[in-house]
Amino acid sequence: MSEGKVRVRFAPSPTGPLHIGGVRTALYNYLFARQHGGELVFRIEDTDSQRFVPGAEEYILESFKWLGIRFDEGVSFGGKHGPYRQSERRDIYKEYVGKLLDTGKAYIAFDTPEELEAKRKEIENFQYDSHTRGRMRNSLTLPKEEVEGLIEDGQQYVVRFKIDAGQEIHVNDMIRGDVRVKSDILDDKVLYKSADELPTYHLANIVDDHLMEITHVIRGEEWLPSAPLHVLLYRAFGWEDTMPQFAHLPLLLKPEGKGKLSKRDGDRLGFPVFPLEWHDPKTEEVSSGYRESGYFPEAVVNFLALLGWNPGTEQELFSLDELVEAFDITKCSKSGAKFDYQKGIWFNHEYILSKNDDEIARLFAPIVANNGVDATMEQITAVVHLMKDRVSFVKELWDLCSFFFIAPTEYDAKTVKKRWKDYSAKQMTELAEVLEEIDDFSIEGQEPIVMKWVEEKEYKLGDIMNAFRLALVGIGKGPGMFDISAFLGKEETLRRLHAAIAALG
Ligand code: GLU
Repeated sequence: MSEGKVRVRFAPSPTGPLHIGGVRTALYNYLFARQHGGELVFRIEDTDSQRFVPGAEEYILESFKWLGIRFDEGVSFGGKHGPYRQSERRDIYKEYVGKLLDTGKAYIAFDTPEELEAKRKEIENFQYDSHTRGRMRNSLTLPKEEVEGLIEDGQQYVVRFKIDAGQEIHVNDMIRGDVRVKSDILDDKVLYKSADELPTYHLANIVDDHLMEITHVIRGEEWLPSAPLHVLLYRAFGWEDTMPQFAHLPLLLKPEGKGKLSKRDGDRLGFPVFPLEWHDPKTEEVSSGYRESGYFPEAVVNFLALLGWNPGTEQELFSLDELVEAFDITKCSKSGAKFDYQKGIWFNHEYILSKNDDEIARLFAPIVANNGVDATMEQITAVVHLMKDRVSFVKELWDLCSFFFIAPTEYDAKTVKKRWKDYSAKQMTELAEVLEEIDDFSIEGQEPIVMKWVEEKEYKLGDIMNAFRLALVGIGKGPGMFDISAFLGKEETLRRLHAAIAALG
């Protein structure tokens, strides 16, 4: 084993789109690897061909590319521990299953599904273990010749791990401490099936972690029950010295706080649970993704990093590099983390604010063009500057900003009723005359002149501004009035004023 080098892995099964909890697991592995100058391996655990979904592996890789989470080694990245797809490592697993059989740490079992079912009926809480294996059809109970004969006849069998009762197993978990389990509660897990000549998850996982020199196993809490078995497997192989340290991350919970976060919660409350949009190849169902919903990858990373870990300070905004600095796996919480999707929206808003106007303008420009407006980059940037603090997503800008580019053709009835007084037409006609005389149509050029006129006429400032706004915007909302008129310019401002006077009288 390379002395002291931290090596972690993210090992998804390609059974569908990557769930957002899986993204967080990968992120924590990434942060841990980076902060220790270590390496992150990408392994595909596809020994269960029944659950294989085409496109899932590509989807997972694309997700990490988008998020900026880089792997050092693995499927599509290469490396000296390959192949990294478990379906391409059959011979390796066979060899290691053989080792366990040779040393008596595992045995061959012929019990058919029907026989197992019958036992379950016969014995309450039946478990295939040290107490029951002596009554089953396996290489421990049958004569050697019979075992060989059955295999030669092509009888299907499984290889089971022989777990001795009465042991105390310690799982050294960086988050949960020393987790102790009695071996009596474990069953003799199936490690290999002759039917498909493939190992089960447990065997492949341990053999690969060992051969790939993994030093720390950071994964979801749902794998904690498997950890004692994994410790025993390391021991059975005689690999205690290179046993990885474990960290089982807290579950992501429903926004309400009870129960595991599921895709249905996303559908119900309208937020994505997948990094990218996913088109299910079988059902043709489309599930929304963070990318397509308009989230910045940095915002998603920042949001996820704080689900289950916090820096112990007030700081909430972290770049990926800052996370590498601040992250501490031992400070992850043991209890589940509520998936507060509103917080994710808040993060996106913060990232819009932190990005410069040019960058947001580049993202907004195609939306402006799609709405049939021919605007300059300068105009779009000016609008972004005025309005970006009001939105959480770039796509929300259009509804809020369209009036900058398109003159109102209708006027909001409620606002008209409230804001357009009997004398508004007369006042707006006068205002138009005042504006007509202004050469410098910047905010600074207009504001003092208009204010002076309002004062001299002893008009109510509110009356003027409300009617002016209604004329230029069509509703009672928007940024500062002179921001709007300065953006529109003299000609367009006067045109809109006269149009409103004509329409509203
Ligand atoms: N293939 C497992 C999964 O899909 C990996 C579990 C582990 O990290 O050990 O999550």
